[in-house]
Amino acid sequence: MTTLLGSVRRKMLVVVMSATGAALLLCAAALFAYEVRSVRQAGLEDLQSQADLLAQSLAPALAFDDARAAREALGALRVRPQIESAAVLNARGDVFAEYALPEATRVHWPAALPPEGVRFGLQDAEVVHRIRQAGETLGTLVLRSRHDLAGRALDYLWLLTLAIVAGQLFAALIFRKLHPLITRPILAVAEVSRRVIADRDYTLRVPVTSNDEVGVLVDAFNRMLDDLSREMRERGAAEEALRAADRRKDEFLATLAHELRNPLAPLANGLKLLDRAGDDPKVRQTAQAMMQRQLAQLVRLIDDLLDVSRITRGKVELRREIIDVAALAARALEAAEPMLRQRTHAVSFERPDEPVWVDADPARLTQVLVNLLHNAARYTEPGGRIALAVQPLDGRVRLAVRDNGIGIDARQQAAIFDMFVQVDTSLERGAAGLGIGLTIARELVAMHGGRLGVDSAGLGKGSTFSVELPTVAAPAAAAPPAPVQTAAPKPLDVLIADDNADFAGSLGEILRLAGHRVRVVHDGAAALQEAQRSPPDAAFLDIGIPSVNGYRIAESLRTRPQTRDMLLIAVTGWGQEADRRRVKEAGFDHHLVKPIDTDQALGLLAQRERAASRPKAHAARG
Ligand code: ADP
Repeated sequence: MTTLLGSVRRKMLVVVMSATGAALLLCAAALFAYEVRSVRQAGLEDLQSQADLLAQSLAPALAFDDARAAREALGALRVRPQIESAAVLNARGDVFAEYALPEATRVHWPAALPPEGVRFGLQDAEVVHRIRQAGETLGTLVLRSRHDLAGRALDYLWLLTLAIVAGQLFAALIFRKLHPLITRPILAVAEVSRRVIADRDYTLRVPVTSNDEVGVLVDAFNRMLDDLSREMRERGAAEEALRAADRRKDEFLATLAHELRNPLAPLANGLKLLDRAGDDPKVRQTAQAMMQRQLAQLVRLIDDLLDVSRITRGKVELRREIIDVAALAARALEAAEPMLRQRTHAVSFERPDEPVWVDADPARLTQVLVNLLHNAARYTEPGGRIALAVQPLDGRVRLAVRDNGIGIDARQQAAIFDMFVQVDTSLERGAAGLGIGLTIARELVAMHGGRLGVDSAGLGKGSTFSVELPTVAAPAAAAPPAPVQTAAPKPLDVLIADDNADFAGSLGEILRLAGHRVRVVHDGAAALQEAQRSPPDAAFLDIGIPSVNGYRIAESLRTRPQTRDMLLIAVTGWGQEADRRRVKEAGFDHHLVKPIDTDQALGLLAQRERAASRPKAHAARG
């Protein structure tokens, strides 16, 4: 720092001293030239006027050839001691009279008549003046004076040198006093930057003491620090957010493993129970019901995971229709009923008498409400009170799910809508989910142009989650229902191709029990062979099956005349939008994601059965 300041000060000192030195030298040179000129001019003027006067008094002496009078006239020069010698030359140039001080050195006179004029040397001056009378030149007067121009100049130079040195000293003194005006802010900037680098303290600032260029420099430096500290803050916040997200992801993975294992244990028990139940229908029924519940829970978890991935990538499309939201709320309550009953909650439902119309995807809206109802059931101690209310507002409708459960701390209320966030309290630990239900719900409501909010007076004070949606006008009167198909269904030939033998076998069994004729194969080539040998009415094809994959099987079946029109159903674990598109392109009629809903599978076959048993013309139209 001292080095920096030292060097800045030294440079400034050099600049100041050079500038003052140059200015003083210039002044001195000008003064010196002026002095020499004035001395010369004054000396010459003096000599000239003296010569003028003398010439007048010498003219009669020359005219009368009176040398004595001429000498007397020259003798008057004694009162002017600087005039060292003088001579009067007659018209021919001979010395007529002369005068000289005893110490005079130059007393010889020119042989010829010198030209009229003045000469100024370093130590003496000479004037040659014609003596005239009535236009006639009578003679010439030569005056010589001594002066000490060189000595004067030397004195003058000494004086000027002294003045310059004094001036420089004075300038240095002033510089010493004033330089902090400039160096202090620079030093402050340097000191603050050193501390910022050493301590990483971005709150430090340099005080602005002037509004000149140095002030601008300090101001710019401070602003740069402002920017830097803002960026550091933002970076810190981003890093903290990343760390928090990473923490949440780890927690999420742990929770996911736990949540996936949870239903697997009762499922394994269920299998054992079925094994040992023998023919006891009651035990078998209880085990089946329990296994169905656990399976549904597993499916729900996986659906949620897929949903959250699709929603965050903006891949979810709503299948909107105009629906009565109160009727939809009633159906959602029915769907959540088993869980509410299991937790022995008292449930109330408040709805308006008139329908309330919204333009929404019924499946997605039900999903949101069921999620809120499930949360209310899980985060309320058994025997609690849960209320669902549909309240029409001005141009909107509010669906509120209220519970008197564990409540949510005010500071957590915004965060619970973030992905993987779960409020960590001992009460809810036992009821842990994945922490993504509310994220999905909020996004789905937002996609409907609505808002999902929470209100809780705090821990232990219950919570109210409300969905607000825009309402729309009532739809035009519904078209009369299509005539009910009366044709008797006939069993179908079904081919199942899946390398998971258990899945293929159990599905085959279910279809057989429903009356269909079933063939099961475990690789793609066998599926094609089987279809060739005896074309089936329908096929359930796994996509990732050995030798020939499901897409290629479908494409191949669609190109052969005897299998072109058969019902093709893809059965796969891949349920993303791109997978669905690819399945459609390969020529499949339907896409079922594992674990499949066997009722849905039977429904698809039933549709085909009905179509097959319709009269030809009708079928062609359908
Ligand atoms: P999950 O319930 O699977 O943990 P959600 O996204 O549905 O995930 O909920 C996030 C968190 O919000 C829950 O972990 C819970 O802490 C809190 N929460 C949700 N609903 C309620 C409620 N009705 N009462 C109290 N807390 C709730």
